[in-house]
Amino acid sequence: MTPRYDVVVVGAGIVGLATALELRRSGRSVAVVEAEDRVAAHQSGHNSNVIHSGLYYRQGSVKARLAVAGRDETVAFCRAHDLPHRVAGKLVVATEPDELPRLAELARRGAANGVECHELDGAQARRYEPSVRALAALRVPGTGVCDFRLVTEKLAELLVAEGGELLLGRAVHRLVRRRDDVVVRTGSGELLARSVVACAGLRSDHLALRGGVHPGVRVLPFRGEYAGLRGSAAGLVRELVYPVPDPVLPFLGVHATRGVGDEVHVGPNAVLALAREGYDWATVAPRELAESLLYPGLARLARRYWRYGLAEVRGSLSRSVMAARVRRMLPDVRAEDLEPAGAGVRAQAVRPDGSLVDDFLFVPDGPVLHVLNAPSPAATAALPIAREITARLTGQRRVPAVAR
Ligand SMILES: Cc1cc2nc3c(=O)[nH]c(=O)nc-3n(C[C@H](O)[C@H](O)[C@H](O)COP(=O)(O)OP(=O)(O)OC[C@H]3O[C@@H](n4cnc5c(N)ncnc54)[C@H](O)[C@@H]3O)c2cc1C
Repeated sequence: MTPRYDVVVVGAGIVGLATALELRRSGRSVAVVEAEDRVAAHQSGHNSNVIHSGLYYRQGSVKARLAVAGRDETVAFCRAHDLPHRVAGKLVVATEPDELPRLAELARRGAANGVECHELDGAQARRYEPSVRALAALRVPGTGVCDFRLVTEKLAELLVAEGGELLLGRAVHRLVRRRDDVVVRTGSGELLARSVVACAGLRSDHLALRGGVHPGVRVLPFRGEYAGLRGSAAGLVRELVYPVPDPVLPFLGVHATRGVGDEVHVGPNAVLALAREGYDWATVAPRELAESLLYPGLARLARRYWRYGLAEVRGSLSRSVMAARVRRMLPDVRAEDLEPAGAGVRAQAVRPDGSLVDDFLFVPDGPVLHVLNAPSPAATAALPIAREITARLTGQRRVPAVAR
């Protein structure tokens, strides 16, 4: 007999599992179907592990609201389940005069979002991070670090303990809507569900298209590579040091982070991955690459920002270029202090006109809800995102703002 559930969630990343657990706790039968043989196989297990405070996001955006709530809830979740985490704050440092107005704007944004932040001069900044070069800085005491892979694994453990099902190694090929239910076609048989939540990260647009939904965006994979600071160079960073984001492409800009295991990494950069799960230059999926290159949105994005793109590729190929970028904030870092420390691939929704979808994007299709854009800080915001989705499915409240 075909197994039947109230809700099937596609994808065992942090968003899918948080959503499944929330739905299970609302009394529904739930199964999570995951293509890989483990949870957190992609973005949720390959990121900066920063518990964001909600500083950057446009006031009124879904991101701003859910990141602020998500920060508190992530810290509480880690505390409740004895997961490693630390809240010691971060510094956003302005190193050039033209960054000072942008830093002030960031302080205004933070205050508007209810995020505690303090403006510092260079000397005050060096009391927190003695090795930084800064004309001025913003200190955000509520920012922290955790291990989102462990958070995701804990969500999976709770889901199964509370009666949810976790079906690993089963890629969903297609979602077929029928009158009263949805058929979830996987590589090894079908499932039936009253509702489906598709949290498929890097493949969320594929799943939507295969279900007959034209979401108006494409997911482009942007790899972010990290370098570790080795030996005594790790001592140059106490906690988290961030550059002032460029308003043109705010997700660019490498930062330095001391993780929960005391390791220090710098990154991530942003280069177009040559496969959806392209964690290095050697991983190429010709069909997926062609799909990205033929997408008009990429051509328009590249035409507008080719200088930035070129700089990112140079930083990816050359350790000394990467070190030079870090030296703007931390002048004592040398190229030989850097060693490769892995990569993650961002699932970034891009419109055909070449603009990036900035906010979280939820696209409903009857009983199916597609999560089409859940970039950073969606790991931080996963618990409130799960509540929004549950409220939407159970008809309590609409997910505010479908950001296009
Ligand atoms: C480099 C980088 C740095 C980041 N830093 C931070 C940070 O410091 N703080 C923060 O809050 N956020 C950060 N993020 C963002 C954060 O990691 C993501 O927003 C979050 O992990 C998204 O979770 P997800 O569950 O939507 O996606 P994913 O974790 O990618 O999960 C999607 C899952 O769906 C599965 N799947 C896909 N297609 C199918 C299918 N057809 N059938 C079955 N399963 C399928 C995939 O295998 C995958 O396991 C970062 C992201 C990156 C890439």
